[in-house]
Amino acid sequence: MSSLTHSAPEDGPVFDVPDVQTYGVVYKMSMQADSRGAVLLAYTKNPETGQITRTQLRIDLAGVAYLRGRLDRITAADERCQSARAEDPTPCDGPRDAVLILSRTNTGSYGCERHGAALLASIEGGRPVSHSVAGAAIRVHRAAA
Ligand SMILES: [Zn+2]
Repeated sequence: MSSLTHSAPEDGPVFDVPDVQTYGVVYKMSMQADSRGAVLLAYTKNPETGQITRTQLRIDLAGVAYLRGRLDRITAADERCQSARAEDPTPCDGPRDAVLILSRTNTGSYGCERHGAALLASIEGGRPVSHSVAGAAIRVHRAAA
């Protein structure tokens, strides 16, 4: 937890020298939130030795706030463009706002070029407008045809 930027306990050591280090892959975990923060329970298996470790960590409110901020960033990185459909699991291709796909009624959906083209091909009377990437509309129009 050395990368944790939230404050360490006031009476803790200046440098955290571990007495025990756990290596492995978390294969089962749960987190229960309460008024004091949360408790994280994780089972780790060392891929070399097969040794299983059960770790129970009390996370204070500052730690929960820290985790929440980190998870928001992970979610943002995983998030796909507005035009990506659930049934199409492909990742975005380029900026997520390369193109704006307008429907016949002028409802808009920003998208990367891949998902913009897929969306355009699936609707009647839609048209692409380049947004953050010059020339994206032409490429999306050709790809959707
Ligand atoms: Zn996309």
